[in-house]
Amino acid sequence: MSVMGWSTWVRQARRLMVSSCCLMLAIHGVAGPSLGQSQVVERVAGKPLFRAGAFASNITPPLGEPIVGNFDTPAATHIHDELHARCIVLDDGKTRLAFAICDNVGIPREVFDAAKKLVQETTGIPSDHILMSATHSHSATTARGENALVADKELVGYQQFLVRRIADGIRQAADNLAPAQIGWGAVDVPSQVFNRRWHLKPGTPNPNPFGGEDKVKMNPGSGAATLLEPAGPTDPQVSFLSLRSLDGRPIALLANYSLHYVGGVPLGHVSADYFAVFADRMQQLLKADRLEPPFVGIMSNGTSGDVNNINFRTPGEPKAPYQKMREVADEVADAVFKAHSSITFHNWVELGAAQRELTLGVRKPTEAQRDYALKVLAKPANAKPTGPHERAYADRVLLLYDSPSEVQVLLQTFRLGDLGIAAIPFEVFTESGLEIKQKSPFKPSFTIELANGSYGYLPTPRHHALGGYETWMGTNKVEVEASEKIVKTLLDLFAGLKNNGASSTR
Ligand SMILES: [Zn+2]
Repeated sequence: MSVMGWSTWVRQARRLMVSSCCLMLAIHGVAGPSLGQSQVVERVAGKPLFRAGAFASNITPPLGEPIVGNFDTPAATHIHDELHARCIVLDDGKTRLAFAICDNVGIPREVFDAAKKLVQETTGIPSDHILMSATHSHSATTARGENALVADKELVGYQQFLVRRIADGIRQAADNLAPAQIGWGAVDVPSQVFNRRWHLKPGTPNPNPFGGEDKVKMNPGSGAATLLEPAGPTDPQVSFLSLRSLDGRPIALLANYSLHYVGGVPLGHVSADYFAVFADRMQQLLKADRLEPPFVGIMSNGTSGDVNNINFRTPGEPKAPYQKMREVADEVADAVFKAHSSITFHNWVELGAAQRELTLGVRKPTEAQRDYALKVLAKPANAKPTGPHERAYADRVLLLYDSPSEVQVLLQTFRLGDLGIAAIPFEVFTESGLEIKQKSPFKPSFTIELANGSYGYLPTPRHHALGGYETWMGTNKVEVEASEKIVKTLLDLFAGLKNNGASSTR
């Protein structure tokens, strides 16, 4: 991407944004900054009114930007489907909460923090009441900076565009606030989730990039004769919350499933993956096409660091591009739609938010590991590698060596009546997600991963001992006990929300 090409595109995008903003002002007849600041508590028979609004803000990048999610980073050459920040704002009469679920593989904290600041300035929603996350689509372009472990970096290129469009999305959702009912539910779809870390038969070579051997292997090859058993569970649950107007018009549906992504996207294509196909199918099933304001379907990512859509034991037939993601999205949406028909809608629920900064140690290579990395990089480029991706990991080891020794991460919890939502800025293992669901005082609860930042994989200590891709130094960047500290902090936050809350529903 040339710098000139980018800045020209941004100028054009700014012109477009100015004209659509003028249109909004003409429709509403009020000045921009006062939108959402009125904080008028609407009441019915003396009780505060529950309101909800939604908006999907387009965050599609220009062609030419690098697509990230795999080891290669091909340039975007074709937009298959547009990318969005799918936003919801909720208001219980005294507290507002906002969500922005963004089609990207992982968005760094400084981008989300800048967007939250803008939202707070323009809508009055406090930044600690805003949850922003990435879906983990592997066919979006990069929003990453140089090193996630270094705080307060200057934003560049697509990051600046994202800040504006995410913030605008929440601002428009606040603008769409209308009296609403809320309900939630869950349904199991076990057929589309597979643990991707496998124990192999004894004697199967399983080298890592650091000159050693691992006990488990990620993506070991579908139908391979060497497969023994998966190294962890899956979480088949699809959780969802649904918002509708008092006359039954669907406003938004936010779902959560612990599935990494689906893929099946041709090289160079930009796509929001099955997350957007689910949203589209949900809209169709709920008869929510062409509504005013438009319905917003959302699929957020659960705790899927070790779970993908590949049936390793019984491989399926090869599929056409985009075919598999439609099959997965249709099956999940059909299940949610059936469960949706029997959920209870509430006229009001209490909203709450609590968050905390947690300081984690950064994983540091030993001198021996650093020496090994330097030796790998000193080999001729065409020398036979000892382990997979060993040059890439030698670079990552040296980057960790030079990184700060600690990183502060943001952990966040929301309560929506009796429903609890946890937010973690990592690719979280399913075991951690299941533990939060089980121990949370809110029933049900679910976790949105890659929320409020993006710091790589979060294996549990048990998985660290097994090794494998997700535990490799550089893929994982924080201390071995991080997952336990994070789960404990989130359960503390949930407990505080539970104790502070009054009666939760009506
Ligand atoms: Zn991934």
